Amino acid sequence: MQQIVLATHNPHKVEEFQAIVAATRPDLVVVAYAGPEPVEDGVTFAENALIKARAAAAHTGLPALADDSGICVDVLGGAPGVFSAYWAGHAKDASANLHLLLDQLSDIRDPHRTAQFVSTIALVVPGDASRECVVEGVWPGRLAAAPAGEGGFGYDPVFIPDGQPDGEERTVGEWTASEKNASSHRVRAFQELGPLLVEL
Ligand code: IMP
Repeated sequence: MQQIVLATHNPHKVEEFQAIVAATRPDLVVVAYAGPEPVEDGVTFAENALIKARAAAAHTGLPALADDSGICVDVLGGAPGVFSAYWAGHAKDASANLHLLLDQLSDIRDPHRTAQFVSTIALVVPGDASRECVVEGVWPGRLAAAPAGEGGFGYDPVFIPDGQPDGEERTVGEWTASEKNASSHRVRAFQELGPLLVEL
């Protein structure tokens, strides 16, 4: 089995990647990166994903994946975007982040509450710079008026994905993990990697 290191200290991302990879690439074993975290000082998802994947590949000698992701709200010009984890300050407080975002949009009604979850995944293969690449997955939806559901993490309780069966309007917080992993921005990005993940 080929090991691939996932450059994140976020246990939710590790769980989601392990489920996504198990369903689509059972020949790969996703190992969570436990080494030093680099400073994420990029201003785009792609820059930050590459910073994390390069650090994990250099530290472990294994092929590395890193996901940099966030929620992009149209009426805010794409914010919080790369600042999603820190929107209410530097504490990475998920509840404070989503409540600040809801407050900022309190006067905005549908159809102007559209947003996307974006996942940008970088792949870095040690000793082969030509394999370095970045792919993106976008999951369109809109922001709920109030949080609902206990599932997932981060902004999941306030994100209502488009195209739910029978016109349902559940937040991702109300979805099961397997529903999320079949539709999310993360699986969409992972699918883009497809052939780039052969012969690691
Ligand atoms: P990163 O770890 O620097 O990529 O930060 C990602 C941040 O974006 C997280 O802390 C969440 O706030 C948000 N985010 C990314 N993906 C998701 C998701 O699948 N659900 C909910 N929030 C997410």
